[in-house]
Amino acid sequence: MSRADQTLAEELAAQAAAGRSRRRRTVEARAAGGVRVTVAGRECLAFCSNDYLGLADHPRVVAAFCEAARRWGVGSGASHLVSGHDAEHHALEEELARFVARPRALLFSTGYMANLAVASVLAGRGDHVLEDRLNHASLLDAGLACGARFSSYAHGDVAALRSKLAAIGAAARTLVLTDGVFSMDGDIAPLQEIAAACRELPATLLVDDAHGFGVLGATGAGAVEEAGLGLDAVPVLMCTLGKAVGTFGAFVAGSPMLIESLLQRARTYIYTTALPPAVAAATRESLRVMRDEPWRRGRVLEHAARFRAGLAELGLRPLPSRTPIQPLLIGAEAAAVVASHALFEQGFWVPAIRPPTVPVGTSRLRFTFSASHTEAEVEQLLAALRTLRDSGVIQPTAAA
Ligand code: PMP
Repeated sequence: MSRADQTLAEELAAQAAAGRSRRRRTVEARAAGGVRVTVAGRECLAFCSNDYLGLADHPRVVAAFCEAARRWGVGSGASHLVSGHDAEHHALEEELARFVARPRALLFSTGYMANLAVASVLAGRGDHVLEDRLNHASLLDAGLACGARFSSYAHGDVAALRSKLAAIGAAARTLVLTDGVFSMDGDIAPLQEIAAACRELPATLLVDDAHGFGVLGATGAGAVEEAGLGLDAVPVLMCTLGKAVGTFGAFVAGSPMLIESLLQRARTYIYTTALPPAVAAATRESLRVMRDEPWRRGRVLEHAARFRAGLAELGLRPLPSRTPIQPLLIGAEAAAVVASHALFEQGFWVPAIRPPTVPVGTSRLRFTFSASHTEAEVEQLLAALRTLRDSGVIQPTAAA
């Protein structure tokens, strides 16, 4: 074994000893809006996808994808600024800007890259970045990588944010970054209060609404729409397309000046291949389905509410969330893995989320719901959880 491999082997062994090894399950087939999946020859019910509206295999979205692939080919062939910016991308950007009621939007290949882009353009050496402690890894990485002075505040704690902003002072350039819906907790940031703090103290606010977009708000435009916050309150809005929209990619929406600056300067925009145009075409159709079938938003939220009520009947308490993300706190890494395996044995796929994705001691089962689930399937999941509770695999007292 090479010296490098020897070190890697030791590091992997330490990770395994801490109960933090990760492993992939290969999905052999997906059906029924992605909620019935076949793994190792066995069909199971998945409660672990971010395809909240069940649009990833919607016939209209799939047809738009296939038609565009025939017309445009599969690959875009280049970055947007070279020759990869096709009419489908351009039309999608205009439609996304309209969807979130912002002047302009810019497509990115992933949300991770979009977050890196924004932080790199809006903050640098000598500036300040403030983040909620439970922000998604891509936001935290973006804040750390941009070279600004980085500080985090306790989860959802606007008073802590305010005092940090006050200490920094108005002379400095400060960027505040928050998830709209927290990806591992499912709760919604106090966006109105955060926006008010950023207006008064002052700072530029970026909301990453990866998990709210498509699900929350009167038109599905997300947590920011639900909070009634326009461009002045939330000048930088980042949303992903690989979750409720059911396709792939991400966008940043904001002022023409912001978007032009990202386009001119963000390295994760400039130096990467544009999304396949067929993905853009499928996303355009997905936005139309979101408008035509608003019942999908209602249905997924109803499933989440029924699940919470069912857990309460079992004496189990999920973390406070009214979104499709419903975590059940377990505590120790090993116990979360045991619970996840026990559910899998009964035909339910629910991942154990462990550190470093979540803080030490807060390992959890993360249930996510889809409009493609049926009410009966939610009841089946609750029945399985009842058996886990009765056999002591899940402790009512361990719940938050
Ligand atoms: N932000 C949040 C809150 C997320 O949950 C994710 C994806 N898990 C991302 C950003 C990254 O988006 P993408 O998967 O498109 O890179």
